[in-house]
Amino acid sequence: MERHFTFFKVLQRLFLALLPVAFVGWLLGVPFQAVSAFLLVYALWNAFYQQRLNRWLWLSRTMHPPKAPGAWSDIYDGIYRTLRRSQFRRRNLAMILHRFREAAEAIPDAGMVLEANGNLVWSNKLAQHYFGLKWPTDKGIRITSFIRHPRFVKYFRKGDFKDPITLSSPVGDGREIEIRIMPYAREQWLVMARDVTRLNQLERVRKDFVANVSHELKTPLTVMQGYLELMEEPTDLPPKQLRKAVHDISVQTRRMQLMVEQLLALSRMEAKGIESSELVDVGRLIHRYVAELRHRAESKQQSLTVNVVANSSVLGNEEKLAAAIQNLITNAMKYTQVGGHIEVSWQPVTGGIEFAVQDNGPGIAAEHLPRLTERFYRVTGDRNSATGGTGLGLSIVKHALEQHRAQLLISSTLGKGSRFSFVIPHTLIPNTPS
Ligand code: ADP
Repeated sequence: MERHFTFFKVLQRLFLALLPVAFVGWLLGVPFQAVSAFLLVYALWNAFYQQRLNRWLWLSRTMHPPKAPGAWSDIYDGIYRTLRRSQFRRRNLAMILHRFREAAEAIPDAGMVLEANGNLVWSNKLAQHYFGLKWPTDKGIRITSFIRHPRFVKYFRKGDFKDPITLSSPVGDGREIEIRIMPYAREQWLVMARDVTRLNQLERVRKDFVANVSHELKTPLTVMQGYLELMEEPTDLPPKQLRKAVHDISVQTRRMQLMVEQLLALSRMEAKGIESSELVDVGRLIHRYVAELRHRAESKQQSLTVNVVANSSVLGNEEKLAAAIQNLITNAMKYTQVGGHIEVSWQPVTGGIEFAVQDNGPGIAAEHLPRLTERFYRVTGDRNSATGGTGLGLSIVKHALEQHRAQLLISSTLGKGSRFSFVIPHTLIPNTPS
């Protein structure tokens, strides 16, 4: 119900109350005294309720107004209604703020709100973690005092936030953080930051990979193109040189073919991730490869001994285990000199069953060992060396072993030989206590 009144209405009410008083006063012959007395009482009445209103507003803790008669009741109720409305709005606002804070904590990015001059107004927990902020102690400090990189300071001063900026974490934990700044509310900035370490790493790997593949393919193609140019006039070519050209072209073609096959194997392994396991008879796989490769060993006069435990199947992926075994045996034969010795074993050890290939080849210098499983990493700088390697074999082995909870271990001594091994844990060996 609308209970507001106009000035005219106030006067009208006063007049209507005054009229009977004036009439009674006139009947008693004291009209002016009666009116004056009434006005005095009216003024006192007003003063009394005015001070009650004042007391209620300033001293009372209750929301409910004191009881009042007449026009004062309308005024008290009007104020009460306004108070209730603002209380409701405040609650609503608090709820919205609470929800905003919850949402801001739930997002996977760090968020901060800054004043126009860069002073920190608010930050979520992730921002406090990324930038080493103490909350609420650091409230109000300037962004450039906790992100001090000269590049960021310049970026912030310039005020051109079209593109994000990527920095190393100011708390020195090796993270790379991408920061985006955008206008927010009235004269404020919203700063969003996210951890792009892994993304940048992947991007670097991708770039390196493309550069490596291009380089690896370019070299044999250049060699082949050179020979093909020579062969445009085959009659000018002495037969000995022609035979060498054909031989070199076929070596390069085989190498490219091997590389493409290995790249496909790697990408297949990456795409499939962990696959379902089957029972794989590793002993049988080893015997199969050794039989296939024996003639190659004989052609290099290498002795190849095999020491395989009986009945030792494991739960795993046959294709991956076969790739690991084949690559390690092939490498040993490839890098060991003529007349060398290679021993392949599959024997129980503490923790599981170990596959190992030991050779008495040239060995590998210690500084190369941690990098051997990187794609395209080769110890010999010469990519066209007689071994025809691609640098992909050991990265295939590493990938293949991931599913089998096994790690490739390499020990090697220059001039003495190398040992490549991995242990398939008990958990993947049926009928053994884990
Ligand atoms: P590649 O195709 O070149 O053989 P790998 O990834 O299989 O690529 O091997 C990486 C490098 O590790 C090889 O280039 C070689 O220098 C070194 N290497 C691997 N196995 C042996 C081994 N048994 N003896 C000596 N060096 C080896």
